[in-house]
Amino acid sequence: MEVGWCLLRSLVVNAGSSSLKFALFAADSCELLARGNVEWMGDSDQAQLRLSGQSLADVKRSVLARSHAEGVTVARQALVEHSFLQAGPASQIAVVGHRVVHGGTLFQSSVRVDERVRTAIAELATLAPLHNPPALAAIEAIESAFPGVTQVAVFDTAYFSNLPPSAVVYPLPYEWFSEWGIRRFGFHGISHAYCAQRAAELLHRDLSELRLVICHLGNGCSVSAICHGQPIATTMGFTPLDGLMMGSRPGSIDPGILLDVQRQHGLSIEQLDHALNHESGLLGVSGVSSDFRAVEAAARQGNERAQLALSIYADRVRSAIGAAAVTLGGVDAIVFTAGVGQNSASLRTAAVKGLDCLGLQLDGVRNETSDPDCDLALTESPGRILLIETREELMIAREARQWVAQHWAFLGGNKCSHIHQVLSLDSSPRSHT
Ligand code: ADP
Repeated sequence: MEVGWCLLRSLVVNAGSSSLKFALFAADSCELLARGNVEWMGDSDQAQLRLSGQSLADVKRSVLARSHAEGVTVARQALVEHSFLQAGPASQIAVVGHRVVHGGTLFQSSVRVDERVRTAIAELATLAPLHNPPALAAIEAIESAFPGVTQVAVFDTAYFSNLPPSAVVYPLPYEWFSEWGIRRFGFHGISHAYCAQRAAELLHRDLSELRLVICHLGNGCSVSAICHGQPIATTMGFTPLDGLMMGSRPGSIDPGILLDVQRQHGLSIEQLDHALNHESGLLGVSGVSSDFRAVEAAARQGNERAQLALSIYADRVRSAIGAAAVTLGGVDAIVFTAGVGQNSASLRTAAVKGLDCLGLQLDGVRNETSDPDCDLALTESPGRILLIETREELMIAREARQWVAQHWAFLGGNKCSHIHQVLSLDSSPRSHT
């Protein structure tokens, strides 16, 4: 059954370690129609489904989902139940875009998923054990749900694939780089790329003339330096452990500590891995939580370790902004985004304290009262301080649409001409939807 072109949809799937986010867009305009997530708590088979969309009161209910594959089924059923999708044909889906965290050195741009790509994503799982396997499971579940649908993998690492060598190579024995592939990859690229584009829109400037510092502060945190549209430095490295202090990860630390705790305290590799990924950062220092809101609340009540954790967190962000600005030779704008960056006015105040020297002057009132997307700098500030809601799903939908528009002949030419008509209408980035 053929579906009218105006009904074509782009589906985006973002499979994380404990959640599966999804979003449905109109294929032609990338207008958001519905979004939701399936989120697991602990090891239970029970998950929470959330769905919101146009003309729909927010849905929230418990569901049974034993795996990411079953999460995809739950998401599809919810979209059908609320009439965002039809029950039957795969042809209503123009393309499915997936966020894949690690593309290694193989994938420097988005690719259509085929057998070779699946194998490579599976092999890269050793570098992103919490993220690549769920993405693969979601890809396979989509193939079962919509046989033959075009799937495009959009990689978090791809945006940073052309970092300069001095940012890529660690000062370790060179053979570790040349023979073992130990190098900086950088992560959160989809978010950094979106924020850079969006910053240029907000500033009514061409991205190619801007020097930007993007601060993505969520559960994971990274700062990047974007020079004339190209990332030239980023704080995450070989793995997403590097750089800033995070919810439960430490960011950069003296590597000698890792040697010492093994020698003096007998920690095994597995214990170290667990401590670095799950017991450090805000949680480790505060002893309260990895959740920024909970640590802020404890700090307000006088908890000194929570206060210390917030000070370290802000210091690290401030240092990273300073380093990125110096790498850029000056800064036209910095961007705060993701859960903490978008929502914590107190963190933003602390993070830019003293950055007048870089021409960054925060307007205290705007900072406390504004919602994204907007400018928080004083009118007279030489550099702008932007608050932007990151839109990774939108970015993936655009990438997937662009891939199909560019490769439609490869997909079967006239057979898919209805898809091509829709996807080639306008492949330029849209304004905020
Ligand atoms: P993820 O990396 O999982 O996508 P998010 O971008 O959703 O993470 O960010 C999650 C973080 O944002 C959590 O630490 C959470 O506490 C924090 N956060 C969310 N809302 C607020 C808020 N209103 N104030 C401060 N922090 C917040």
